[in-house]
Amino acid sequence: MKTLLLDGSEGEGGGQILRSALTLSMITGQAFRLEQIRARRAKPGLLRQHLTAVQAAAAISAAQVEGAAPASAALSFAPATIRGGDYRFAIGTAGSCTLVLQTVLPALWYADAPASVTVSGGTHNPAAPPADFLIRAWLPLVRRMGVRCEIKLLRHGFFPAGGGEVHARVEPGAPAAIDVVDRGEYRACRATAIVAGVPADVARRELAQAAFHLSELSAELRVLPQREGPGNALLIEVEHVAVSEVFTGFGARGVAAEKVADQVAGSARHYLESGAAVGEHLADQLVLPMALAGGGRLLTGRPSSHLLTNLALIEKFLPLLTRIREVGTNWLVDIVSRPG
Ligand code: AMP
Repeated sequence: MKTLLLDGSEGEGGGQILRSALTLSMITGQAFRLEQIRARRAKPGLLRQHLTAVQAAAAISAAQVEGAAPASAALSFAPATIRGGDYRFAIGTAGSCTLVLQTVLPALWYADAPASVTVSGGTHNPAAPPADFLIRAWLPLVRRMGVRCEIKLLRHGFFPAGGGEVHARVEPGAPAAIDVVDRGEYRACRATAIVAGVPADVARRELAQAAFHLSELSAELRVLPQREGPGNALLIEVEHVAVSEVFTGFGARGVAAEKVADQVAGSARHYLESGAAVGEHLADQLVLPMALAGGGRLLTGRPSSHLLTNLALIEKFLPLLTRIREVGTNWLVDIVSRPG
């Protein structure tokens, strides 16, 4: 089989191209060479999180790899067989555990035996899915596809300290196609403010401000041991019968707690008013499992460049066509088999 040549500067030009390529390569057996890795990012090339994703993918698929070094701008990856078993990967920085987990979990659906995976690093990072998002928003939809998988957050790790840990158990079994077009009836809206080594008053102010924006909001304040910090996150979960969405913001020095809450509540409100089934992040993270299932549809808001980049990459590895069209104020993504 010819090696697939990929350009990491295309579209979003971030780490997702690498991670999705690793996942799709392991499952299809298609070797690839990726150049210009993360060319559109401020610090291009492989950072610790990406390197750990490469090492994790290589470990579970006995792959031959070239270019897996810090800051490397090019990588060749040729997988062999995906094996179940017990795996443990340490990022070594606050790099995102969830992104490493999302790289290997779909491959383990195609393994010869059950697997467990533990990843240590950051669990609540800006610009990555927080562990709560993975567990409460992404996982239930993947399980609806028939996948048998559990994910647990063992310890929080915030940027820049890291030190968190997530654990997953997976049974082999490929996903089945589903549509995520209708989110169903509204059920509840829950805000959780987390503080670790940060005054609880920050969390109280975030919850008060979030409640000001969203009526019927239930609120939970979670104070973690200081050693899991320093860190502060505000999560708002919007639950409908068929979909739960999780919106997240992070406290930072010099940013008022109220500002964090305004941003997160704004995202939740926008989603509530849009009628879309899934928000921006869930959309770009669902299309890969849907593609593995051989098809599916989802309704989301204006497509992000992460979504468009992932769809383009999927078409390079799988005999699928991805279509996207405007439906009222939302967008319908349709993944179908390529004719012939
Ligand atoms: P990249 O920037 O290419 O490394 O990809 C980042 C990934 O993290 C994408 O799949 C984003 O959708 C996802 N992501 C970023 N922020 C969030 C968030 N707040 N909640 C869930 N997913 C996120």
